[in-house]
Amino acid sequence: MNSHAIAELVFQLGRIVSGKGHADGLTDAQWAVLRYFSQANRFSQTPSAFAAFHSTTRGTASQTIKNLIKQGYLNRVRSVDDKRSVRIVLTDKAWGTLKNDPIESLVRAAKCLPKNVQADLANALQQMLDHVAQESDKPHFGTCTSCHYLERDSCTHAGQSTYECRLTKQALLLEELNEVCINFLPSKPLLLAKDPVTRSK
Ligand code: SF4
Repeated sequence: MNSHAIAELVFQLGRIVSGKGHADGLTDAQWAVLRYFSQANRFSQTPSAFAAFHSTTRGTASQTIKNLIKQGYLNRVRSVDDKRSVRIVLTDKAWGTLKNDPIESLVRAAKCLPKNVQADLANALQQMLDHVAQESDKPHFGTCTSCHYLERDSCTHAGQSTYECRLTKQALLLEELNEVCINFLPSKPLLLAKDPVTRSK
């Protein structure tokens, strides 16, 4: 398969999902916000990080977020790490609504692929994303599992390997390793002690 055919397939998948209309009465932009904050790690749960991720202006991002707070989908909470900063988190209503996310048809399609194909495809798509982000001078987003700053402790605690972010100097929980981060710096994927869990409610 040539590179044009691959690009067309990626584009077509995105077009089909975004063409599903206003599922659950939410616009594409509102779905994008809910999806982002369901995956963002604690360092990336801000309107400006979402604006960078979605290549939109801070003003537009803040307006969409404000509307979703008013409608009961999002909450503002004080950050535990830094009391001065505020994080945006999903409410129970939002977690429930995300079960009807138009992107779920893609999730089901990905689940049907053999495990080794899923891993290869994820790596290939991440590389494509990194390349496009670099070309367009956009910030890289990615997860700890393939980030330069991830460090696995040589010792284990209660039989569990521990992880740390060398950039923020914070310990990371296993379930955080698969969350999207604005500080991500691409590196080789790390072999984990066990698969990280995807956040859901
Ligand atoms: S290891 Fe990388 S992706 Fe993970 S929190 Fe640190 S900077 Fe973000």
